[in-house]
Amino acid sequence: MNEKYRELANFIFPNINEKIKDLEKKYPERNMQEGEKVTRIAPSPTGFLHTGALFTALVNKRISKQTNGVFFLRIEDTDTKREVEGAAGTFINELNSFGISPDEGIIGEKTETGNYGPYYQSERKNIYKICAKELISKGLAYPCFCKSTDSEELRSFQEKEKIRPGYYGKFAKCRNMETTEAIKKIKNGEEYILRLRSKGNHLNKIAYEDKIRGKIEQAESDQDIVIIKSDGLPTYHFAHVCDDHFMRTSLVIRGEEWIASVPLHLQLFEMLEFNPVEYAHVPTLMVQDGNGKRKLSKRKDPEAACSYFLETGYPILAMIEYLLTIINSDFELWRKDNLDKDLELFDVKLDKMNVAGALFDIMKLNDISKEIIGRMNTETLYENAKEWSEKYDSKLQEKIISDSSYIKKILGIERENVIKVRKDFVKYSDIGPSITYFYDEEFQEDIKDGYVFSEEMKKDDIIEILKEYIKELDLNVEKDEWFNNLKTFTDKLGYSSNMKEYKKNKELYKGSIADVSSVIRIAVTNRKNTPDIYSIMKILGKEKVIERFNKVIDKK
Ligand code: GLU
Repeated sequence: MNEKYRELANFIFPNINEKIKDLEKKYPERNMQEGEKVTRIAPSPTGFLHTGALFTALVNKRISKQTNGVFFLRIEDTDTKREVEGAAGTFINELNSFGISPDEGIIGEKTETGNYGPYYQSERKNIYKICAKELISKGLAYPCFCKSTDSEELRSFQEKEKIRPGYYGKFAKCRNMETTEAIKKIKNGEEYILRLRSKGNHLNKIAYEDKIRGKIEQAESDQDIVIIKSDGLPTYHFAHVCDDHFMRTSLVIRGEEWIASVPLHLQLFEMLEFNPVEYAHVPTLMVQDGNGKRKLSKRKDPEAACSYFLETGYPILAMIEYLLTIINSDFELWRKDNLDKDLELFDVKLDKMNVAGALFDIMKLNDISKEIIGRMNTETLYENAKEWSEKYDSKLQEKIISDSSYIKKILGIERENVIKVRKDFVKYSDIGPSITYFYDEEFQEDIKDGYVFSEEMKKDDIIEILKEYIKELDLNVEKDEWFNNLKTFTDKLGYSSNMKEYKKNKELYKGSIADVSSVIRIAVTNRKNTPDIYSIMKILGKEKVIERFNKVIDKK
C-alpha cells in the first residue's frame, strides 16, 4: 500500500533525499528554559509595514523580552505576485526606528543572523519539499490537476446549492486518483499542485487554548488544502507549520484573521508529527467610521502605514506608549504612577488583552504625544527635531543649522521649570508651521493677506494701542514686572486691566486687557494664539517688535 505512495513521492521529488528526521537534527530544539518564549513576526514583503503589523510585532517583542526568550523576523515571500523590491529593508528599518528590532533572522535587507535560517521563505524551498515528499510517501498528500476553471465551477456549484464551500470529501476530485494515473499526467506535462489528504471530519470539534482568548472550540478541518502551489512554492499554511516547527517558535502571536485556520494548522502539525506551537491571536486595529467601526485600511487611512508616524514626526515613545494602552488597559494607570520609568518595566499580559477589535484612536495618540513632547527638555526636543528634520523637513533643518541657539530659545518657551508646559506640538512636523513669525521672511509672507485682528477692534484703536505701547515697551525687566507694566498701560489707555470689573461694567471701558494684549500679539505674530507673548518678544528683541508695530501702523 505504502509502496505506490513512495513511488509517487520519488517520482515528484527525485532529487530530494533528505528526510524530516535530518531536518530535526539540523534545526535542533533550542536550549530554552521553561517559560522562555520564542516569538516571531512574519511579514509578507508588500512594500509597507502596516500599523497593525507594528502592533503585533510589539506584542511579540515584549513577550520574548519579558520571558528572556528570542524574537526573530522571517520574510514570507512566497506570493511572488505581491512582492515589492526592497520591502524587507523597509521593514527592518521601520521596526528598528520603533525600537522593535529582532534578535534573530533578517536584521538587514541582506543580513541575517541565527541558526534556524534561511529566514526568507523563498530560500527554504528544499525544506518544504522534504516535508511535502514525506507526506506524499505516507499517502497524506497528493497531486491535484484541477484547473482554475474547475475550482470556479466547484465554487459556484457549492454556492448555488448552499453547500459548505471548499475542496473536501467528495468534491476533492483528484483525491482518489490512482498514483499511476497521476504519474502519467505529470509525465505528459500537465500542471499540478500538491494538496493535503485531510483526515478530518467537519462534524468533530477540536479545542485549544489561545493565550489571549482562552479556550476556543472549532470544527475539525476536512479541507484538502493546497500545500505546494504550481510554482513550487508553499502556501502560507504549509510554510507556517514547517517554518515555525524548524525555527523552533514556541508561541505564534499573530492577527485574529488566522483564528479560522487554526484547526487546519493543528492538523498539519499532527500529520507531520510535529509538536504544535502555542497560539495567541491579537485583535485587528479598527477605526471609528461614523457610527460603526472598520479595519484600519491602507486605502483610506494614512495612519495605516507606520511610516506615517515616522514621516510626520511622532516621538517613537508616544507611539509605543499608545500601542501599550491598546494592548493592556491597565497600562495607563501604571504610566501615571511611573512617569519617568522605562516602558520596558511594564509587563505586557496576554490574557488581559482586549479582544473586541482594538480601536485605533489618533486623538488619543495625539494627547499622549503632546504630553511627551511637553515633558521633553529643550535640549532633547532640539536634538529630536534636528534628527527628524534631517530626513523629513529640509526647511526646519535649515533653520536649525543656520542658528541653533535661536531655535533653542524658541523651543524653550514655556518648557522646563514652568508650572504649565506648552502642549502645542503633537509631532515634530508641527514645529515648522508654528514658529514662522520668528523668521522675517515667513512673517512677511504671512501678513501678505492681511492681519487677523478681530473685526470688532476699531482700526484707530489698534493704531493707538500700538503707537502708545511703542513708547512704553520695556523688555529689560522680568516677566512679572512686564505684566504689571502692561496692566498700568491698559488702564491708562481707558481699557480695564481687571477682567472681573470689566465684565461687570463694560460700558465704562474701551475694552479689556485681553483686547490690548491681543492687539500686541497679533501685531508681533499675526496669530490669535501663541505661547507666552513676553517670551516671544524677548526672543525677537525690542527693535524687531517695534518694527512690527510700525508695520501695522503704516498699513492701517
Ligand atoms: N505573512 C503572514 C501575514 O503577513 C504572517 C502571519 C503570521 O504571523 O503567521 O499575515
